[in-house]
Amino acid sequence: MGVCSSQILIDLHRHLDGNVRLTTLLDLAEKNNIKLPSSDLESLASHVYIKGQTSSLLSFLEKLDYGVSVIATLDDCKRIAYENVIDAVLEGLQHTELRFSPYYMAKSHNLPLYGVVEAVIDGVETANREANYNAKLIGILSRTFGVDACNAELGAILGHKENIVALDLAGDELGFPADLFQSHFNRARDAGLNITVHAGEADGPESVYNAISLLGATRIGHAVNAYKDPMLMEFMAKNKIGIETCLLSNYQTHTVLNLKEHPLPIFLEYDIPVCLNTDDPGISNNTLVSEYSLAKEILGLKDEEICRLQANSIEMAFLSEEEKKRLRAINS
Ligand SMILES: [Zn+2]
Repeated sequence: MGVCSSQILIDLHRHLDGNVRLTTLLDLAEKNNIKLPSSDLESLASHVYIKGQTSSLLSFLEKLDYGVSVIATLDDCKRIAYENVIDAVLEGLQHTELRFSPYYMAKSHNLPLYGVVEAVIDGVETANREANYNAKLIGILSRTFGVDACNAELGAILGHKENIVALDLAGDELGFPADLFQSHFNRARDAGLNITVHAGEADGPESVYNAISLLGATRIGHAVNAYKDPMLMEFMAKNKIGIETCLLSNYQTHTVLNLKEHPLPIFLEYDIPVCLNTDDPGISNNTLVSEYSLAKEILGLKDEEICRLQANSIEMAFLSEEEKKRLRAINS
């Protein structure tokens, strides 16, 4: 492939519950009578957006609590899901996979998990229809809340499996390793879901290997620390295990101390399928375009490498061959 002229933008790793508009945050807080640190947009932004680096993945994740703290009804879930699709369209993304944790969204007001999943699907489908779009949904198990909560969460996700393309595992990677969730992921694979897992972010390369070998992941969220094991790198390349890289997020979670040291160029060197994504724009205040700019300006990626990332995002998507064909046509 020569230098691509097209600017296809596909985000495969974006948390819809990590991407609540600030204006919606204020609106819902007022409607549901919930106190936020500020009722002024500008000063609320200074609380919600991450400045510089947090001390760890867990302190990064705490910032996400603002977004879900204001969710008090199923309609609120629907609204957030709906707005995520509309915002992806407005941002110029030709395709996106939005992920969400039903348990995390339900938690602060004890909403029914099945209802949350239904409301999120409803919001995404309504926006897809209105915008003639094809956003897909990934269900997340929030490992932080333990094995039993994840079982309940899985039940709600599998109850709507025809509207969900994959299962993910997110949250406290160090405290809740992959082996605790093998039976959950066996069930999800038996139900026909694709698997992507957050790994190699707070833990080392063995966590990435376990996500692949124990949980059946064909894509890994972040996988930053995988580069420390060349055998794993070769294994991932050979088996075409995709890496969903989120540059700014990896800096903000303190997974890389300095963006210049991010292993993305190593992933490309090994010819591992890797693409760029935003993760949680609601707290990182980023866009997919700003992620590509970081890859170019901070990591010094060449145009050819940027094109490869764009092309990879099509091939890595949890889409049918027919749907991928349509995206390839835009990118050629
Ligand atoms: Zn993530």
